[in-house]
Amino acid sequence: MYRQACYDEPLLSEIGEREESGYFPGAEVNIPNKLERKNLRIPQISENRVVRHFIRLSQMNYGVDTGFYPLGSCTMKYNPKYSEEIASWEKSSELHPYQDERTVQGALRIMYELQEYLANIGGMGAVTLQPAAGAHGEFAGLRIIRAYHELKGEDRDEVIVPDSAHGTNPASAAMNGYKVIEIESRNGTVDLDALEAALSERTSAFMLTNPNTLGIFEEDVVKIAEMVHDAGALLYYDGANLNAIMGKTSPRKMGFDVMHFNLHKTFSTPHGGGGPGSGPVGVVEKLRDFLPVPIVGYDGERYFFDYNIPYSIGKVRAYYGNFTVLLKAWLYIRRLGGKGLVEASEMAVLNSNYLRAVLSKHIEMPYRPLRKHEFVLSGEELKKKGIRTLDIAKRLLDYGYHAPTIYFPLLVREALMIEPTETESKDELDAFAGAFLKILEEDTETVKSAPGNTAVKRVDDVRAAKNPVLSWKDIG
Ligand SMILES: *Cc1c(COP(=O)(O)O)cnc(C)c1O
Repeated sequence: MYRQACYDEPLLSEIGEREESGYFPGAEVNIPNKLERKNLRIPQISENRVVRHFIRLSQMNYGVDTGFYPLGSCTMKYNPKYSEEIASWEKSSELHPYQDERTVQGALRIMYELQEYLANIGGMGAVTLQPAAGAHGEFAGLRIIRAYHELKGEDRDEVIVPDSAHGTNPASAAMNGYKVIEIESRNGTVDLDALEAALSERTSAFMLTNPNTLGIFEEDVVKIAEMVHDAGALLYYDGANLNAIMGKTSPRKMGFDVMHFNLHKTFSTPHGGGGPGSGPVGVVEKLRDFLPVPIVGYDGERYFFDYNIPYSIGKVRAYYGNFTVLLKAWLYIRRLGGKGLVEASEMAVLNSNYLRAVLSKHIEMPYRPLRKHEFVLSGEELKKKGIRTLDIAKRLLDYGYHAPTIYFPLLVREALMIEPTETESKDELDAFAGAFLKILEEDTETVKSAPGNTAVKRVDDVRAAKNPVLSWKDIG
């Protein structure tokens, strides 16, 4: 009966018909004879084998939708499904960058408002949405700083970074042609004497993350800003950890001049395997005239692309930024509201300190006890017993967890950097802590030979880094 109903001709025709546009790009192209593929050998495989193959591959993936993802510094925040859904609507995803401004007023309004929200959160005077990642924001921000000094006729060719900095900081400085000066931290925060010694008339900027990559708030930040400004340099805020302090303070209040926002870390957009990302940059008023073009303007009636930026550094990316990512960040901010954003930061800090309190009873945590949204343990003591941080990270995979960040920041030996984010429940944190503590009691051999349950067993990281095999054709 069922079969018959399914194949019943009138019923099928009632379903409706897809309208064909009649246009197939490339259909009119004649492929030259020598480029045509002949003797195509297409494997004959049943549908269910294909489906099982790809489902199995998809199940080997690990993401925030699969489980707890405590990757410190990266802030693997939950991606709300409402924003994914809205961003996938045709009217969000099918816009063309060359459409007439009059036809995309809604999209421009969203971009304009996001600029305003971010400026407000950062305390900044203006924002560009163009950069495609946090690191790209650093590059653009330093470009702006460079243009600012140059316009003043000052030749400043050095950027100072603390040894707790993310590797992208010195890299962005070097890409801008700067000499990088690294200063050592003292007790996990900026050493003011070291900073004083490094500052000079050659200093263009000091780059700082606050709270820093140890999860420690740099309490001397106002003094630091004063010292940097007294030297005629600017202070750059690496916004990767903004999720710890939203609404509590702002980079502007702390004295920063330029900052980037990692939308995927603070505003719940997906990391997306290296892209598509978004790293808007905020600047104080005196630097607005150097922003990349265009920014989105509003004249009280309509939204428009504003190219009227006198000393613009130009463009750092095609078009205007990653629109659907910007849309997701806008949705997140709208949905949470100011109070919700503050609460998100509070929960992130609370979750981090809960886990820290449980774990640091069993494994060393250098420097001071209280942390913000993340904390860094040291496996130095365990190493003496023959277990390294890498082994713990691998063994956690067997328990179904993504590993924390390891061996970063560099100033902590055998570092294990954990960031739970605000959306995890106490149950989830307890379960993770339970697995972690169990591993500390396991026999060395089990831990050292982990992972045992994953599709790929332990790889030779050193060989992989030195001799990367990037195509399946190169295997074997
Ligand atoms: C993630 C991160 C960056 C780089 O940001 P991306 O968006 O990944 O390019 C810079 N600094 C810190 C402290 C980070 O955690």
